[in-house]
Amino acid sequence: MARSKYPKFSEVQARADFPAILKHYGIKAKPAGDELVCSCPFHEDKTPSCFIHPEKRLFKCFGCGIGGNIFEFVRLKENLGDSGHELGIISKIIMDVCDIPLSDVTGNRASLRKPRGTSKVHTETTKKEKKVSEVNKPLSFQLHLAHNIPFLKSRGICEEAERVFGLGVAKRGTLRGRIAIPIHNRNGELVAYCGRFASEYPPEGEPRYKLPKNFNKGLELFNLHRAMALKLDYVVIVEGFWSAIRLHMLGVPCVALMGSHARQTQLDLIVTSGFKRAYVVLDGDEAGRLGAEKATIDLAGYMMVRRIDLPDGIKPDTMDQKWIDQLV
Ligand SMILES: [Zn+2]
Repeated sequence: MARSKYPKFSEVQARADFPAILKHYGIKAKPAGDELVCSCPFHEDKTPSCFIHPEKRLFKCFGCGIGGNIFEFVRLKENLGDSGHELGIISKIIMDVCDIPLSDVTGNRASLRKPRGTSKVHTETTKKEKKVSEVNKPLSFQLHLAHNIPFLKSRGICEEAERVFGLGVAKRGTLRGRIAIPIHNRNGELVAYCGRFASEYPPEGEPRYKLPKNFNKGLELFNLHRAMALKLDYVVIVEGFWSAIRLHMLGVPCVALMGSHARQTQLDLIVTSGFKRAYVVLDGDEAGRLGAEKATIDLAGYMMVRRIDLPDGIKPDTMDQKWIDQLV
């Protein structure tokens, strides 16, 4: 196997020593359970509110909401961007500070997508997902939809968004009367429609969202093909359709997990779609925070990851401008 002379991102991440990095920047941290806590270096922090998980090499400030992996930490400290060149600089800083020899971090590229410690998660998820479907076949039909939907207007979705996303009300079939949201695979092929009940309060027993039984949502990321077409080097990961639609229309490359838990295939799609940086912005609730933590850990070996926790009850489709400003 040919060995690259360049450091591998996931290998640097796996060997990085967070306490050494803190010391390098003159940041004093105290132990707090499995974690370390320090005054946040990224905002005016009166009480120590920045937590560092040395083993996972992640940080999270509960004051300003900034968090991510060790690469993101160094990038912010150095005020760097995320070009390939700058990522190289960050790797070099981490390797120097943590005394990591280049020979330790230049594994062969074929194993790039198998960082240590994630194989268990991978097998478990794969087993569960196999029961449903291993691939979502492109649909051979398109629904006839009625347009100009008052409910969408009430959700702040403009006609332009309706057109871009192909939204409409299904005239017949199992989704009759529901808002059909077309879901495409990475190649832009239509693989399913999700039927959203056309009001906030579906009658009892009626699900808010309906997906085809044989459709495996864990194999797709809503809006991935459009996010890729924007040709930016980052992606924002959200939970729901409306959040993705809103951010996309603001020019933010955004994909939706269609839930709060990122499945392995979805993470693989993010890692292999050419993005260098990911923002994890899930809903401001317990499930969202748990999902965000896991997704951040899983992506941390492959790219720069920043996690933004929204306040309780806030979602990316309702968050105000100050949060959006962090994403553009
Ligand atoms: Zn902070």
